Amino acid sequence: MRNYATQMEAARKGIVTEELKKVAEKEQMLVEELLPLVAKGKAVICANKNHACIDPEGVGSMLRTKINVNLGVSRDCKDYDIEMRKVMEAVHMGAHSIMDLSSHGDTIPFRRKLTAECPAMIGTVPVYDSVIHYQRDLDTLSAKDFIDVIRLHAKDGVDFVTLHCGITRKTIDQIRNHKRKMNIVSRGGSLVFAWMCMTGEENPFYEYYDEILDICREYDVTISLGDACRPGCLADATDVCQMEELIRLGELTKRAWEKDVQVMVEGPGHMPLDQIAANMKVQQSICQGAPFYVLGPLVTDIAPGYDHITAAIGGAAAAAAGAAFLCYVTPAEHLALPNIEDVKQGIIASKIAAHAADIAKGVRGARDIDDQMADARRTLDWEAQWACALDPETAKAIRDDRSPEHDDTCSMCGKFCAVRSMNKALAGEHIDIL
Ligand code: SF4
Repeated sequence: MRNYATQMEAARKGIVTEELKKVAEKEQMLVEELLPLVAKGKAVICANKNHACIDPEGVGSMLRTKINVNLGVSRDCKDYDIEMRKVMEAVHMGAHSIMDLSSHGDTIPFRRKLTAECPAMIGTVPVYDSVIHYQRDLDTLSAKDFIDVIRLHAKDGVDFVTLHCGITRKTIDQIRNHKRKMNIVSRGGSLVFAWMCMTGEENPFYEYYDEILDICREYDVTISLGDACRPGCLADATDVCQMEELIRLGELTKRAWEKDVQVMVEGPGHMPLDQIAANMKVQQSICQGAPFYVLGPLVTDIAPGYDHITAAIGGAAAAAAGAAFLCYVTPAEHLALPNIEDVKQGIIASKIAAHAADIAKGVRGARDIDDQMADARRTLDWEAQWACALDPETAKAIRDDRSPEHDDTCSMCGKFCAVRSMNKALAGEHIDIL
């Protein structure tokens, strides 16, 4: 019988939960090191008490950077089994969480399948699901309808929910007066904004925040405070709308912690490279170290088809400066629903960004695998190189496709292989180039 409601409450009471023990082991940390981070909200363990098969992960800037993959059934891809296969493939490739952004049909069975079978953290955006769940136009939904959907997701075992609590009626004037180039590009944020415009009422996720906190506390659902005003282009980065919302997210973080509810804060967006580190510092200061979950940041607006790369550059810079969680971006961003190859490219790009950042910020044990790769390259041990590679299949396929003249080298330099020459020279052997 658990005598705590949330992982945060347990940590504050000094209770070492099974989940905390597992996370500490994965992070090569002592439980005594992790426990105060969870107690203070600097790390979260998103583990709904109804998600029985979860293999828990921690999210926090001192921990390994985690990556999220967005999937879900849609009008164009409505087969639960196919989508579930994509989910398990994403987890196999290293996704730490799956956000179920289902937008078609009855979303309950797929969500329940996820929390029954998927060991990764499961996140949702209840405002998207509200329209689908009730099959009614947005302006006919009431605040109670939205809150009931949050409760339904919590009961179904969802580990974290994105809630756009930080925009208010004041934001409507700000967006109108400030004249952003891209207004609001957050899907959930635009729905909340539109609902406020159509009904004339206050943001229900802000107005009934205390009620929402009670639900999240009961099931241990982590709130991911959505950034409705995240910049959708470089010109809108770090503007009044983004900063004003961030300040409110800081206040909401504090209110959640007063009820032992775990919180992450979502962030940009599109942002010039030189503004990223400063944004991470400002967030950490305003939200008192709550884990930052970034959607990119995309460092240029002109690379459709390659936005997994623009996001990986920004994601690496953001995570090195303190972001804890990267939402993957695929080459299909801004263009279409990603296919399976896009999903793979997005995951690999995010993993590279996360890993590069972990090395830069000195996360324990992060560089060990790179050092093993260097040893494997020096000894021209190709099997050992595949074992260290992020995507061994692709690496092996490229080598096999362009076979070398000599088995120990590769076709890049052939007999001029610097590694082979150095090994032979240092061993006092003759080097045959011609
Ligand atoms: S041939 Fe060139 S690229 Fe290939 S292993 Fe040797 S030094 Fe490296």
